[in-house]
This record gives sequence, C-alpha cells and structure tokens, in this order.
Amino acid sequence: MIKTKIKISHFLDLVYPRECWGCQHSLAQSSNRFLCFFCWQQLPLRRKPICLKCGYTHGPHCLDSLWCLECLNRPFAFKEVRLVGPYKGLLRRLLICYKFEKKFALHYLLAAILAQKIKRHPFPDKIEGIVAVPLAPKRERERGYNQATYLALSLSQKLQIPYLSSVLEKKCDTVAQSTLSGQKRRENVQGVFHLVSCKKKEIKGKVLLLVDDVITTGSTAHECARILKKTGAKKVYLVVIARTEIR
Ligand SMILES: [Zn+2]
Ligand SMILES: [Zn+2]
Repeated sequence: MIKTKIKISHFLDLVYPRECWGCQHSLAQSSNRFLCFFCWQQLPLRRKPICLKCGYTHGPHCLDSLWCLECLNRPFAFKEVRLVGPYKGLLRRLLICYKFEKKFALHYLLAAILAQKIKRHPFPDKIEGIVAVPLAPKRERERGYNQATYLALSLSQKLQIPYLSSVLEKKCDTVAQSTLSGQKRRENVQGVFHLVSCKKKEIKGKVLLLVDDVITTGSTAHECARILKKTGAKKVYLVVIARTEIR
C-alpha cells in the first residue's frame, strides 16, 4: 500500500513538478509539499512574547501577559490573540499569494503553521467553536473564496474543534481598511457585521475562536467579537496569520 502511494506521488511530481511556494526551488526530492528547508527557516516559528490584544511583538524581556502601551486604553471585545508573526518577508508573500493570486491550497500550510503556534501558546479556556470573519458577498464573488473561511476550516480539522459555518455575515462592502487610519477603521466597520439569526443557538454560552488572515488595528475583529458576545457567545478569542506594522 505504501509502495503504491510512493509511486503515485512520484508520478504526480513528474506531471506537476512541485516547487517551493517561497522561492520556486524544486521540491521533487523533498517530502514537504509547500516549502523548501531554507524557506521553512525564514518563517517566524519560534514563540515570542506578544501583546495579547494586538499581537505586537514585545521586547525580549517582557512577559506574554503584558499589553503594549497602545492597548492599555483600547477596549477589545476579543479576549486574546494568537498569530504566526509580523506581516513581512515570506509570511507576507505567502498571504499575498493566498489572497490575491488564487493560490487556494496555501490555506493548508498557513493553518498548519498557525495550529503549531497555538499548541505552543494555548488559550486559557477550552475553545468550543471556530468562526470565520466574513467577506461582503460582492468581494467574495470577485475573489472566488473567503480566505478566512478556509483557514478556519483547516484549523478546525487540525485542532479538532467544531467549525461553525456562516455564523456572521457582512451585508455591505466597506472602504478597504488598509486605506484608513485608526479611528476611521473603527467607524468604517461599525454596524456592518451581523449574526445570521438561525445561528444564535449554535453560539449561545460558548467560548469561540474567531479567525481572520491579518490584524492591523483590530477594528474588524473587535466588531465581530462584539456582535458574537452581544448575541450570546460567552467569550471570543482571535487567531490571525499575521500582524501588520501599522497600528
Ligand atoms: Zn524555498
Ligand atoms: Zn497591543
């Protein structure tokens, strides 16, 4: 049986030669399907102390439990965040490929790295359900998929936590958050997310994990977590792949 698998995979490699998603180096001789050894070393896999609200990396002598100065006066509806690392270098390239260049399969890799990070830095509560940050329908049609949904699905399989589908909806499209400053970002997302009414029972009293691809000021995640808590969730934690430099 194993022999057959090896033969099939060798055959597929001939038809569709595998390349590293980071540097296009051939992976024909590698057991890894996505990245070469060199690119794996470029990923921020080691655990570093972060602000538990915005994901900002603390200095080397700080504790995880600290919030950064920016977050001391910023109320967030989600309790804590976990992430892979800063939105730069290889991580940024992978996210751009995943989101904008239709490299759909990358969600397997990104979710696997995220799951590894969560296992090294677990949440203080047992998570009972995973929910994705929604895209506006028009944006989802243009892109072909919601990047957060597939990350959430993959993460649900890797962490063995139920995925709760279509819990939140974003009825109208908004100005891209990346074009706005801090306060304007909060105003931009206010009132645009809603709980799908038939999902109220599914989230009632539960500790949820909200999934998105990137965090900047945390406005989108805050608004989604606020709606989830207002409509019955007990607590909401957040996971994202990366944190941008702008806050
Ligand atoms: Zn590579
Ligand atoms: Zn912070």
